[in-house]
Amino acid sequence: MIIEDFVSFNANGLYCKYGDFYIDPKQPVSNAVISHAHADHAISGNDTVYLTEATKAFMVLRYGKNSAKVFNVISYNTPFTVGQVKITLIPAGHMLGSAQILMEYENVKYLYTGDYKLQADATCEPIEWVTTDVLITESTFADPAVLHPDPVSEIKKINEIKTNILLGAYGLGKSQRLINLINTYAPQKKLLIHHRIMPINAIYEKMGYAPGKCQIYSRKLMKNQEEFVYIVPPFTFDSYIRATGVTRLFASGWKNLQVNNRDTLFISDHVDWNDILQTIKNTQPKQIWTLHGNGQHLKQHFGDHIFVKILN
Ligand SMILES: [Zn+2]
Ligand SMILES: [Zn+2]
Repeated sequence: MIIEDFVSFNANGLYCKYGDFYIDPKQPVSNAVISHAHADHAISGNDTVYLTEATKAFMVLRYGKNSAKVFNVISYNTPFTVGQVKITLIPAGHMLGSAQILMEYENVKYLYTGDYKLQADATCEPIEWVTTDVLITESTFADPAVLHPDPVSEIKKINEIKTNILLGAYGLGKSQRLINLINTYAPQKKLLIHHRIMPINAIYEKMGYAPGKCQIYSRKLMKNQEEFVYIVPPFTFDSYIRATGVTRLFASGWKNLQVNNRDTLFISDHVDWNDILQTIKNTQPKQIWTLHGNGQHLKQHFGDHIFVKILN
């Protein structure tokens, strides 16, 4: 039987009292299972953490020795237990090392997706499917009005731009995906990378997911018009306002960041409405619990067919 309060939110985040652990906690806790290394999911200062090898490497790069006290590095598809709960990490396809968290307790399966995507991405493990009784899904873009465009046709837009390009993107995950896409679909472009992104690329390379050809930025290089694409994190992007001879673009999955279509490469690392429906088909849940976003549309869509509960 599905336990209605198997996981629930408290001040520290999403908590499973049956195993006494948190999932992607917001405050430091004793036991944390961490789905992936983005800062809103992986905070520093937890005692014991369970995570993939790549997630650990990114956390140590960001937080140094404050990352956590005890690291339990877990391979995908290799069950372990916390308290009475059997846990398995399943590739989520969101960024390198990202995991869905499958929890099994008293013969019932609860699958926390974390952030996930179905689109192809050569810079991370592709999403894998397991069936579940309860699907606990992010609902960032769980709205029939949100349909992500094809990332390949988005990236090909830069082929029409002959000036140098300043391309803003989050340093972890998105930047590496862009490097790979540009190498593949705009190979004549010369990629320059902000120095803060280089150590992240080094981890990708070490894990067998080298993002592709690129070099560290130098001001001298960008003075020439040679179809350079300079990838910078958001804080640098904002401070680069005075640059001349440069086309500014930002790569994002967020509609509200689009000043107009020309300024944005719409490349999302989250599921859109159709992807969520596909996920529900593939995982065959009896119940859907939503978080991070708006579960109302799913509730309406499934009506009496699948019970939808909004966790936050
Ligand atoms: Zn994320
Ligand atoms: Zn997230």
